[in-house]
Amino acid sequence: MKKKLIVGNWKMNGSLAANEALVQALRAGWPAAADCDVAVAVPSPYLAQVQSLVDASGIALAAQDVSQHDAGAYTGEVSAPMLRDFGVRYVLVGHSERRQLHGEGDAAVAEKAQRALAAGITPIVCVGETLAEREAGQTEAVVRRQLAAVVHRNGRCISEVVVAYEPIWAIGTGHTATPAQAQQVHAALRAQLAAASAHAPAMRLLYGGSMNASNAAQLLAEPDIDGGLVGGASLKAPDFLSIIAAAR
Ligand code: PEP
Repeated sequence: MKKKLIVGNWKMNGSLAANEALVQALRAGWPAAADCDVAVAVPSPYLAQVQSLVDASGIALAAQDVSQHDAGAYTGEVSAPMLRDFGVRYVLVGHSERRQLHGEGDAAVAEKAQRALAAGITPIVCVGETLAEREAGQTEAVVRRQLAAVVHRNGRCISEVVVAYEPIWAIGTGHTATPAQAQQVHAALRAQLAAASAHAPAMRLLYGGSMNASNAAQLLAEPDIDGGLVGGASLKAPDFLSIIAAAR
């Protein structure tokens, strides 16, 4: 039986002191009955610090982005082998903030996933529609297009990928998709993956977008929601711990 996966996305938040306090609070409050995989996606400068803070805790280390290139004249970029050096287990690719604020397109996202896989890091491929796209009835077409690029480029390895459905209108807004809305999209994504891989039923599809301590259990009860990508609530230890406890 696959375990659920809960990933905290710290975004561009934290400091040496705040990171230490947060990870210590997570370790101290870890629910005895927790039965899911957990990772925290931290800003790159803190990878080494958080690598040692989570050591032997069962919390995996994740990065928030990776270069689509392996090495060379790409100032400011961080490569997958560099992430691997710091014990990074997962990396977010195609987060909507990267797509919208940094112009990342589907092809670049697919290349990033490929680089991560080649380095032995699991890419968490983020897909999701804007409010305008949802209102125009384009939700499934948009997420299918975003996922198709990754499937196309990573055909044989696609079962190694984690997918995160994150409706853009739900990220950081407090407007969560209803469990039914999220399940509908997850089922469509699962069907798309099933056409590409016999392992699709075992793949993990996360929901992200204002997941919190109050709504996590209901979302995670849906049959195709295999975990959560959690932004704001992952910065508050009690809230993140409640979500971890709900993931069973
Ligand atoms: C995210 O950043 O991936 C996210 C889901 O954020 P939030 O939980 O704050 O909506």
